[in-house]
Amino acid sequence: MTSLPFRCTACGEERLVDERERGRTAYCHACGGAIEVPESLAFPEPAQIRAVKKFGLRLDTVLLLSLYTGLLPVSAACWWFAGRAIGRAEEAGLPVERQLRFTWMMSIVVTVGHALIWTVVLAAVWR
Ligand SMILES: [Zn+2]
Repeated sequence: MTSLPFRCTACGEERLVDERERGRTAYCHACGGAIEVPESLAFPEPAQIRAVKKFGLRLDTVLLLSLYTGLLPVSAACWWFAGRAIGRAEEAGLPVERQLRFTWMMSIVVTVGHALIWTVVLAAVWR
């Protein structure tokens, strides 16, 4: 059984409308006004809710996501700084150190990897 928040048109108070009340008249808890619950009101599937709850409550997921959110700007900054350093060296006709090129390439891999992981995670949560 799922429920959705529904706003009373008379007083603006919000109450949860049960799936059983679909197509029926519910009454506002605040003012007692009638709330017509449309038959077409789309309730989320229980499986969908469980997935979001499970995702939201797991500490390891939260820690992993915070790690990713922290690392993404760092790897993007490495990409930018290393790229600029290589560009300046090449402009000046100086040799570019292998480590610098490696750092630049790895930061691109890590940044793109993070972006892909984020796309997959966000697509899974807000499908
Ligand atoms: Zn009301």
